[in-house]
Amino acid sequence: MRIVLVGPPGAGKGTQAALLAEQLSIPHISTGNLFRANISEGTELGRRVESILREGGLVPDELTIAMAAERMAQEDAQGGFLLDGFPRNIGQAKALDASLAEAGQKLDAVLDLEVPEDEVVKRIAGRRMCRRDSAHVFHVEYNPPRREGVCDVCGGELYQRDDDRAETVRKRLAVYHEETEPIIDYYRAQGLVSTISALAPVPEVTRRALAVLP
Ligand code: ADP
Ligand code: ADP
Repeated sequence: MRIVLVGPPGAGKGTQAALLAEQLSIPHISTGNLFRANISEGTELGRRVESILREGGLVPDELTIAMAAERMAQEDAQGGFLLDGFPRNIGQAKALDASLAEAGQKLDAVLDLEVPEDEVVKRIAGRRMCRRDSAHVFHVEYNPPRREGVCDVCGGELYQRDDDRAETVRKRLAVYHEETEPIIDYYRAQGLVSTISALAPVPEVTRRALAVLP
């Protein structure tokens, strides 16, 4: 199954993607996590994108599309994948469609996570991410780790992302409304979109997602 997950920053895409990917036995591909891994490893790509992430802008399409295509070409993604944070604008959505079409493939579903803005702001403010693996995500109030500052899954250090500060969050929300939201209509025209309310506990959101996926 080939699925795209959309929703504002802090909606719970990464949290749900990790759970759904496990249930569906497909890889979770997060462009945000891939960029952060490049930054922490100090790669050439990481150096080019670091200030863009810190300021909450979008990385140029050519870099993003090339990185996503490389990851999707890996063997574990041949049978399907769950994309989290990609595509993030119409240009990326068209590039994804074109590369899937070239391989005789298409998307099966686009899952749109709906969360009111005051709630995403609270989710982002309390988010803590693991330095060893950014698929390990916690929240100081809603999903606290057993030991403060320590990842329950792997013992890694938990940190607050640079771009989760209030000023940057406003910018990221504006970018979401301007650039990313239009892809929902683009995919709606293809009959692919299921919108669910993600204003519920994590397991309930997972149930809602599994109930609407084809
Ligand atoms: P969130 O889900 O909180 O919005 P992500 O981890 O998905 O955050 O993305 C973090 C940052 O990485 C974005 O603000 C942007 O700078 C960059 N990024 C991630 N995915 C893309 C993409 N598809 N296109 C451009 N930039 C991206
Ligand atoms: P996204 O990838 O969309 O930016 P995350 O999955 O990183 O979002 O979630 C943002 C924050 O909200 C994290 O701290 C996470 O623990 C928390 N969170 C995720 N889903 C829920 C939920 N259903 N209820 C409460 N908090 C949640």
